[in-house]
Amino acid sequence: MPTPSDELVLGHDLRSFVDASPSPGHAVAELARRLEAAGFTELAETDTWTPTPGAGHYVVRHGSLIAFRVGSRPLSEAGLRIVGAHTDSPTFKVRPHSDVRQAGYRLIGVEPYGGGLWHTWLDRELTVAGRVALRGGGTTLVRLPGAPVRLPSLAIHLDRSVKEGLTLDPQKHLVPVWDRDLGTEPGLAEALADAVGAGPDDVVGHDLVLTDTQPAAVAGADGNWVAAPRLDNQGSCHSGLLALLAAAAGERTQVLVCNDHEEVGSGSMSGARGSFLEDVVVRLAAATDPADRQAVHRAIARSVLVSADMAHAVHPTRSDRHEPEHRPQLGGGPVLKLNANQAYATDATTGGWFTERCAEAGVPVQHFVSRADLPCGSTIGPLTATRLGIATVDIGAPTLAMHSCRELVSALDVPLMVSALTACLEN
Ligand SMILES: [Zn+2]
Repeated sequence: MPTPSDELVLGHDLRSFVDASPSPGHAVAELARRLEAAGFTELAETDTWTPTPGAGHYVVRHGSLIAFRVGSRPLSEAGLRIVGAHTDSPTFKVRPHSDVRQAGYRLIGVEPYGGGLWHTWLDRELTVAGRVALRGGGTTLVRLPGAPVRLPSLAIHLDRSVKEGLTLDPQKHLVPVWDRDLGTEPGLAEALADAVGAGPDDVVGHDLVLTDTQPAAVAGADGNWVAAPRLDNQGSCHSGLLALLAAAAGERTQVLVCNDHEEVGSGSMSGARGSFLEDVVVRLAAATDPADRQAVHRAIARSVLVSADMAHAVHPTRSDRHEPEHRPQLGGGPVLKLNANQAYATDATTGGWFTERCAEAGVPVQHFVSRADLPCGSTIGPLTATRLGIATVDIGAPTLAMHSCRELVSALDVPLMVSALTACLEN
């Protein structure tokens, strides 16, 4: 059972993780940095892998990362324990021709990414972060210094209709301002090139997103809450990483998979509907049991995936939006998510298995189902279960304001999540 000091330390650690991860590429870099510090080494997909028992490795595919600790027995005999999460969050992606000029301003053309609560991005100190491709090959991560980007609200005096509800047209209204247009000032392209130490013509492509510059903060009357951007789902990437690092090596291979593109349906070479996890499992099964052509199928049949994604804590003034008998509380421990229509992959077996692991770890379990008259969100869980045929359970830490620019969790849940996921990896 976690102690109060765990909450302080791990809450602080979660804030550091989120602050280091303004984009999926940065999240992967931060995961890799921490894995390297713990003795994990990187494998390239272009290399031949010869994993040895007990060794820790990680593989990067764009905004996704898979880390694993090789078990003492072949995958075909012992199976895998996998924790899955996603690195991306709702944001705005910078367009190729992003230099927009109107009304005496220079603006940045952006396209909404995922289903954000876009009004929460107004009047915040924003910047641009992500990955740029350089002439001649290679990519580098970049985060522009300061807070050069902003989405200003329209004053109420100029639109009284806002009292009936704010309507934002993403094409017309959600175009962030960069600077006044005096004809001489550097634009985004110059700032990017400057930030990566290249000439303006040397940046030949980019995956750039808007990001809030306000650091993650301690919040709440007891200081137990963490207010931060991107907690969905960097909170689960963080808990999954700490669980993998804490888990004792055993006979089973332990895996952390953090996929990109969950917020836009997971359909990409690095998303959960792509081949990344399957490729890694096939290679590990073949490497640890080269004589058995059915090794991967035997491995998957013995395996469990814990799909960790943030869960909806009951809202203080909108509790009617929750199913009355299922109202997860902040700080109440991991939430087991179920849905009759398979928006979550949890079933009797995997839900029971997770509940047992939590009991072993002294961790309480909460439950979430949607109201019958409300649609349900989803996760990488059902997608991965569908692709791999792997037993899967959907869980997550209770969260308020999911998909806001500034989400809220309880630091009390961080050690509870880490303990639960560690028990799952060690089972
Ligand atoms: Zn999520």
